[in-house]
Order: sequence, then structure tokens, then C-alpha cells
Amino acid sequence: MLEATAIWIQLGGSCSRPLPSLSSPAYDAGVMLQRLKTWVARRFDRRRQAIGRVVRVPATDAVPTSIEPGEAFIVGEPMKWLIVGCPCRCRENLWLNLMESAEPRWTITFRGGKIGVRPSVDAVECGSHFWIADGVIRWV
Ligand SMILES: [Zn+2]
Repeated sequence: MLEATAIWIQLGGSCSRPLPSLSSPAYDAGVMLQRLKTWVARRFDRRRQAIGRVVRVPATDAVPTSIEPGEAFIVGEPMKWLIVGCPCRCRENLWLNLMESAEPRWTITFRGGKIGVRPSVDAVECGSHFWIADGVIRWV
């Protein structure tokens, strides 16, 4: 919220620093609204802050088109993909490559039955950026 306000003040006032171009993604209302939603989601809904259910499936066709936040699917044996329902609730499935033959690549660990993922997950569409450690979403 503060971020959005600051942008509008900068737009309206006189500023000696050069402003980013008006076509900059920072001024796009949709992007700003999604950032606000993510900000609210991070702070007020604790239910979506964990990966509570990890399902192993043989192939991607067994993965729902919109995975619930808090769920993840591991596809293939050996493991090819980790597909996570975005925790910001944008309904996007985030596909993380686990195959050594391709980049970028993530590695997953299980400690006490809780999943960990490295490196962090940076969702392009909604701007969510988070770590998964011991089954818990840690926002960057
Ligand atoms: Zn999202």
C-alpha cells in the first residue's frame, strides 16, 4: 500500500530525479493491484503459508490445471517436475524443473516429511518470490 502511494506522489509532484517511463511496469494498475494482493496474502492469511500436501504422480496429465495453494505435485520417476500452486492464490501452477539436463533447475529435500526447495521461487506472472523450507513458505 505504501509503495503504491509513493508512486502516485512521485507522479504528481515535481521531482529532480528522472522518473521511469510511464509505460514502465511499475505504473501498470494490474501489476500494482497484484502486488497489493500479494502483500495482503503474505501478512493476513496464515493458511497459505505452508506446503502441507505433496503428491507423487507418474506424468503431468495427472496434475490439476489449478493446484490449490499449499499443495505440490512431484512428476515422474526419476523426478522431472515439482509443480506448486502459487501461494499468493493467483491460481497459477508454478513449474519447477528438477531434471539435471535442463536449466534453471531446482533441488528438493525432505526433512521430517516436510519439503524444502532450492533456490527460491520467483513467479513471473504475479511477482511472488518465496522460499520453501521445511514445508513453510518464506516470502522474500
Ligand atoms: Zn501467484
